[in-house]
Amino acid sequence: MTQIAGVLYVVATPIGNRTDISARACQVLADVDLIACEDTRHSRPLLRHLGLDKPLAALHEHNEEEATARLLAMLANGKRIALISDAGTPLVSDPGFVLVRAARERGLTVIPIPGPSALICALSAAGLPSDRFVFLGFPPRTEAARLRWLTALADEPGTLICYESGRRAEATLNAMASVFGARPAVLARELTKRFETFISASLPDLAQRIASDSEQQLGELVILVEGDRRDSDQRATAEQQRILAILADELPLKQAVGLAARITGGNRNRLYQQALAAKR
Ligand code: SAM
Repeated sequence: MTQIAGVLYVVATPIGNRTDISARACQVLADVDLIACEDTRHSRPLLRHLGLDKPLAALHEHNEEEATARLLAMLANGKRIALISDAGTPLVSDPGFVLVRAARERGLTVIPIPGPSALICALSAAGLPSDRFVFLGFPPRTEAARLRWLTALADEPGTLICYESGRRAEATLNAMASVFGARPAVLARELTKRFETFISASLPDLAQRIASDSEQQLGELVILVEGDRRDSDQRATAEQQRILAILADELPLKQAVGLAARITGGNRNRLYQQALAAKR
């Protein structure tokens, strides 16, 4: 008899408010043979709340390869497995990518059961442009790596969204202010929970608010920053001025202007007038 291959369901669970779980997610969790979760101690209370007592298997960043191999073998044997994470949508800054890719490579059926995710929840109510956005996961932890990472994002026009721990939020906001200046930003904290808070301010003000109110460093948070909304002419002018300023520090003005015009393709006369104005 041919064995029918199983199905992997990727199931979103709440990010705080348990009633945010969808009816379809509940149905799938009730129907599957096994639930793969990050931390069985964390997921058991949610499942108990849903009235479910299911076999669980741990799949986290420290055992992702071995756990994936075991789960793939079960899927190949026709088992139906749900993948959940501690909160929100699996694979979004959470484990599961290795399993989902391997399942797809083997031609297994992978079905998403959509639901909460902190990044979309934050974006939907932050009041920042949402037509285009970039999700960045967690920022690098060391100062130098974080600055390099932010600098590479300086020209990105989409709204920037990242996750951050409360204790690193102030340092991250300060680093963002030093790279992006006074752009509008939002701190979205404890989404869907009792102390849900949105603070909208310029990056330097937001860093200041966090520094002076340690309550704002508690719980879980998402940082959103407006992207670079300048048009291409404004960007080109700013880049020409940046290069001209560096050259003018080292060279006579005429020579600096000539070189800046050659490097950037800018108009020599206009650059000269701008340089004179800057000097004045
Ligand atoms: N998979 C999850 C999702 O779909 O949003 C995210 C998991 S990631 C490991 C956890 C991070 O998401 C937290 O450190 C925090 O930055 C953010 N987060 C999760 N729940 C949140 C909430 N209720 N309010 C604000 N941020 C939250």
